[in-house]
Amino acid sequence: MKIICIGRNYADHAAELGNSLPSAPLFFLKPDSAVLMHRHPFYIPDWTNDVHHEVELLVKISRVGKCIDPAFAHRYYDAVSLGIDFTARDVQAALKAKGHPWEQAKAFDGSAVVPRTWVPLAEVGGDVQDLAFSLQKNGSDVQQGHSGQMLFPVDDLIAHVSRFMTLKVGDVMFTGTPAGVGPVATGDVLTGHLCGRQMFEVEVR
Ligand code: ZN
Repeated sequence: MKIICIGRNYADHAAELGNSLPSAPLFFLKPDSAVLMHRHPFYIPDWTNDVHHEVELLVKISRVGKCIDPAFAHRYYDAVSLGIDFTARDVQAALKAKGHPWEQAKAFDGSAVVPRTWVPLAEVGGDVQDLAFSLQKNGSDVQQGHSGQMLFPVDDLIAHVSRFMTLKVGDVMFTGTPAGVGPVATGDVLTGHLCGRQMFEVEVR
Protein backbone atom coordinates (compact mmCIF):
# COMPACT_ATOMS: atom_id res chain seq x y z
CA MET A 1 0.00 0.00 0.00
CA LYS A 2 1.33 3.41 -0.88
CA ILE A 3 0.21 6.84 0.22
CA ILE A 4 0.11 9.49 -2.48
CA CYS A 5 -0.01 13.07 -1.22
CA ILE A 6 -0.98 16.07 -3.29
CA GLY A 7 0.69 19.40 -2.54
CA ARG A 8 -0.73 22.90 -3.09
CA ASN A 9 -4.19 21.84 -4.20
CA TYR A 10 -5.99 24.74 -2.49
CA ALA A 11 -5.16 28.30 -3.50
CA ASP A 12 -5.67 29.71 0.01
CA HIS A 13 -3.16 27.24 1.49
CA ALA A 14 -0.54 27.82 -1.24
CA ALA A 15 -0.85 31.54 -0.51
CA GLU A 16 -0.43 31.17 3.27
CA LEU A 17 2.93 29.43 2.69
CA GLY A 18 3.97 31.91 0.02
CA ASN A 19 3.98 29.24 -2.70
CA SER A 20 3.01 29.76 -6.33
CA LEU A 21 0.14 27.74 -7.79
CA PRO A 22 1.22 24.61 -9.66
CA SER A 23 0.35 24.24 -13.35
CA ALA A 24 -0.03 20.46 -12.89
CA PRO A 25 -0.71 18.42 -9.74
CA LEU A 26 2.28 18.20 -7.40
CA PHE A 27 2.63 14.89 -5.59
CA PHE A 28 4.91 13.00 -3.24
CA LEU A 29 4.72 9.70 -1.36
CA LYS A 30 4.65 8.50 2.22
CA PRO A 31 5.55 4.85 2.97
CA ASP A 32 3.10 2.51 4.71
CA SER A 33 5.27 2.84 7.84
CA ALA A 34 4.12 6.48 8.09
CA VAL A 35 0.58 5.47 9.11
CA LEU A 36 -0.10 6.40 12.73
CA MET A 37 -1.16 3.25 14.55
CA HIS A 38 -4.84 3.09 15.40
CA ARG A 39 -5.67 4.84 18.68
CA HIS A 40 -2.02 5.70 19.30
CA PRO A 41 -1.00 9.26 20.17
CA PHE A 42 1.15 11.26 17.77
CA TYR A 43 4.61 11.81 19.26
CA ILE A 44 6.41 14.96 18.11
CA PRO A 45 9.82 13.74 16.84
CA ASP A 46 12.87 15.06 18.70
CA TRP A 47 14.47 16.42 15.49
CA THR A 48 11.84 19.06 14.75
CA ASN A 49 10.45 22.07 16.60
CA ASP A 50 7.60 22.87 14.23
CA VAL A 51 5.22 20.06 13.28
CA HIS A 52 2.14 21.32 11.44
CA HIS A 53 -1.25 19.68 11.00
CA GLU A 54 -2.64 19.46 7.46
CA VAL A 55 -6.17 18.03 7.35
CA GLU A 56 -7.01 16.41 4.01
CA LEU A 57 -9.80 14.53 2.28
CA LEU A 58 -8.69 10.94 1.62
CA VAL A 59 -9.66 8.74 -1.31
CA LYS A 60 -9.05 5.00 -1.33
CA ILE A 61 -8.19 3.30 -4.62
CA SER A 62 -10.50 0.36 -5.31
CA ARG A 63 -9.19 -0.89 -8.71
CA VAL A 64 -5.78 -1.35 -10.26
CA GLY A 65 -5.14 1.29 -12.87
CA LYS A 66 -2.49 2.89 -15.04
CA CYS A 67 -2.81 5.83 -17.44
CA ILE A 68 -6.41 6.33 -16.32
CA ASP A 69 -8.51 8.67 -18.43
CA PRO A 70 -10.02 11.48 -16.29
CA ALA A 71 -13.46 10.57 -17.62
CA PHE A 72 -13.15 7.08 -16.09
CA ALA A 73 -11.23 7.99 -12.94
CA HIS A 74 -14.39 7.91 -10.79
CA ARG A 75 -14.49 4.14 -11.31
CA TYR A 76 -11.25 3.76 -9.34
CA TYR A 77 -12.53 4.87 -5.92
CA ASP A 78 -15.78 4.54 -4.03
CA ALA A 79 -14.97 5.59 -0.47
CA VAL A 80 -13.60 8.67 1.27
CA SER A 81 -12.18 9.48 4.66
CA LEU A 82 -10.29 12.26 6.41
CA GLY A 83 -6.68 12.30 7.53
CA ILE A 84 -3.78 14.42 8.70
CA ASP A 85 -0.55 14.93 6.77
CA PHE A 86 1.78 15.84 9.66
CA THR A 87 4.62 17.96 8.33
CA ALA A 88 7.86 19.02 10.01
CA ARG A 89 7.66 22.53 8.57
CA ASP A 90 11.11 23.63 9.76
CA VAL A 91 12.79 20.62 8.19
CA GLN A 92 10.72 20.95 5.01
CA ALA A 93 11.71 24.61 4.68
CA ALA A 94 15.41 23.70 4.95
CA LEU A 95 15.05 20.91 2.38
CA LYS A 96 13.05 23.12 -0.01
CA ALA A 97 15.71 25.84 0.24
CA LYS A 98 18.32 23.34 -0.96
CA GLY A 99 16.04 21.86 -3.63
CA HIS A 100 16.15 18.49 -1.85
CA PRO A 101 13.37 15.88 -1.53
CA TRP A 102 10.91 16.30 1.34
CA GLU A 103 10.74 12.78 2.76
CA GLN A 104 12.39 13.55 6.08
CA ALA A 105 9.79 16.25 6.72
CA LYS A 106 6.78 14.35 5.38
CA ALA A 107 7.28 10.58 5.43
CA PHE A 108 8.39 9.87 9.00
CA ASP A 109 6.71 7.34 11.30
CA GLY A 110 3.29 8.48 12.45
CA SER A 111 3.08 11.33 9.95
CA ALA A 112 -0.07 9.98 8.27
CA VAL A 113 -3.38 9.79 10.13
CA VAL A 114 -5.47 7.33 8.12
CA PRO A 115 -8.67 6.26 9.92
CA ARG A 116 -9.94 2.72 9.71
CA THR A 117 -13.36 4.16 8.91
CA TRP A 118 -14.13 4.85 5.26
CA VAL A 119 -17.41 6.37 4.14
CA PRO A 120 -18.96 5.07 0.93
CA LEU A 121 -19.12 8.06 -1.41
CA ALA A 122 -22.75 7.25 -2.14
CA GLU A 123 -23.57 7.79 1.57
CA VAL A 124 -22.43 11.42 1.46
CA GLY A 125 -24.16 12.42 -1.76
CA GLY A 126 -21.97 10.77 -4.38
CA ASP A 127 -20.07 13.87 -5.50
CA VAL A 128 -16.43 13.83 -4.37
CA GLN A 129 -16.18 17.56 -5.19
CA ASP A 130 -19.01 18.47 -2.81
CA LEU A 131 -17.70 17.42 0.61
CA ALA A 132 -17.13 19.67 3.61
CA PHE A 133 -14.53 18.84 6.24
CA SER A 134 -12.83 20.45 9.21
CA LEU A 135 -10.14 20.03 11.84
CA GLN A 136 -10.51 20.99 15.48
CA LYS A 137 -7.63 21.62 17.86
CA ASN A 138 -8.72 21.30 21.49
CA GLY A 139 -12.32 21.74 20.39
CA SER A 140 -11.90 24.86 18.23
CA ASP A 141 -11.99 24.86 14.43
CA VAL A 142 -8.53 25.50 12.95
CA GLN A 143 -9.06 24.31 9.37
CA GLN A 144 -12.22 24.23 7.29
CA GLY A 145 -12.29 22.95 3.76
CA HIS A 146 -14.60 22.05 0.93
CA SER A 147 -13.50 19.70 -1.84
CA GLY A 148 -15.12 22.02 -4.40
CA GLN A 149 -12.23 24.45 -3.77
CA MET A 150 -9.55 22.05 -5.06
CA LEU A 151 -7.37 23.43 -7.85
CA PHE A 152 -7.27 19.97 -9.44
CA PRO A 153 -10.33 17.75 -8.87
CA VAL A 154 -9.87 14.19 -7.64
CA ASP A 155 -10.43 12.66 -11.08
CA ASP A 156 -7.64 14.80 -12.55
CA LEU A 157 -5.34 13.86 -9.65
CA ILE A 158 -5.93 10.16 -10.30
CA ALA A 159 -5.40 10.58 -14.04
CA HIS A 160 -2.20 12.54 -13.51
CA VAL A 161 -0.56 10.30 -10.91
CA SER A 162 -1.48 7.13 -12.83
CA ARG A 163 0.54 8.35 -15.82
CA PHE A 164 3.65 7.84 -13.71
CA MET A 165 2.81 5.01 -11.31
CA THR A 166 0.33 2.18 -11.22
CA LEU A 167 -2.44 2.69 -8.70
CA LYS A 168 -3.22 -0.42 -6.68
CA VAL A 169 -6.17 -1.54 -4.59
CA GLY A 170 -5.81 -0.09 -1.09
CA ASP A 171 -3.59 2.84 -2.06
CA VAL A 172 -4.62 6.04 -0.29
CA MET A 173 -4.55 9.51 -1.79
CA PHE A 174 -4.25 12.63 0.41
CA THR A 175 -5.83 15.29 -1.77
CA GLY A 176 -4.23 18.43 -0.32
CA THR A 177 -4.92 20.74 2.58
CA PRO A 178 -6.91 23.98 2.77
CA ALA A 179 -5.68 27.06 4.63
CA GLY A 180 -5.25 27.13 8.38
CA VAL A 181 -2.27 24.82 8.82
CA GLY A 182 -0.41 25.42 12.05
CA PRO A 183 1.80 23.93 14.75
CA VAL A 184 0.81 21.21 17.18
CA ALA A 185 2.01 21.04 20.78
CA THR A 186 2.17 18.38 23.46
CA GLY A 187 -1.26 17.92 24.99
CA ASP A 188 -3.22 19.03 21.93
CA VAL A 189 -6.18 16.91 20.88
CA LEU A 190 -7.02 16.94 17.17
CA THR A 191 -10.39 15.84 15.85
CA GLY A 192 -11.55 15.75 12.25
CA HIS A 193 -15.03 15.89 10.79
CA LEU A 194 -16.17 14.93 7.30
CA CYS A 195 -19.71 15.84 6.30
CA GLY A 196 -20.59 16.19 9.99
CA ARG A 197 -19.13 12.83 11.05
CA GLN A 198 -16.17 12.61 13.39
CA MET A 199 -13.51 10.57 11.59
CA PHE A 200 -10.60 10.62 14.05
CA GLU A 201 -9.31 11.86 17.38
CA VAL A 202 -5.55 12.11 17.89
CA GLU A 203 -3.70 13.16 21.00
CA VAL A 204 -0.32 14.90 20.56
CA ARG A 205 2.51 14.00 22.95
ZN1 ZN B 1 -0.48 17.81 2.74
